Amino acid sequence: MFSPLIDDLINALRYLPGIGPKSAQRIAFHLLDKGRSKGLELSQCLSEALRKVKHCQQCRTFSELSLCKICANPKRDSQICCIVKTPLDLAAIEQTQTYHGKYFVLMGHLSPLEGIGANELGIPAFIEQVKRTKIKEIILATSSTVEGETTAHYLAEQLKTEVQKITRLAHGIPLGNEVESIDHGTLMRALLDRQDIRETY
Ligand SMILES: [Zn+2]
Repeated sequence: MFSPLIDDLINALRYLPGIGPKSAQRIAFHLLDKGRSKGLELSQCLSEALRKVKHCQQCRTFSELSLCKICANPKRDSQICCIVKTPLDLAAIEQTQTYHGKYFVLMGHLSPLEGIGANELGIPAFIEQVKRTKIKEIILATSSTVEGETTAHYLAEQLKTEVQKITRLAHGIPLGNEVESIDHGTLMRALLDRQDIRETY
């Protein structure tokens, strides 16, 4: 519709998640009109990050360093490891500022239909790592979807003889919600996973 370079730019922007044709056009013209220096900065950051960011050798999260900041931090408790699906899940747990252990990032869930098995998620190497180190507790923080539950179950089976304690994130009632408005599945899990409040207060 436009000149070839502009069409290429719009098509490239459409590759981004959540960006439709109209938004792609708006962003392209914004960059060409008023945002050239910021746009060049963006293209430089993009190219640097895409070339240099790889996976942490220990936890598999994204990092341009061979060991990410968390794995390299001697103050983090290496006796406890939280297994998550993505680096975004890791970031969400970090933001709670209540967890001070290490992580393992699967970069996906088990999904035989998509050809994602234990090897694709680095699980055999992680089990070897658990055997070599002094990890006492594994927290399974995979999603509460079918794939997330299957992955948690598989990991629990594989790790049960290797660590003293395997825990799963509790499925509870969102803060500020009325009990009557909670969906059946969440309420059922919340009842099954109920806790003695003397442990938490
Ligand atoms: Zn790491």
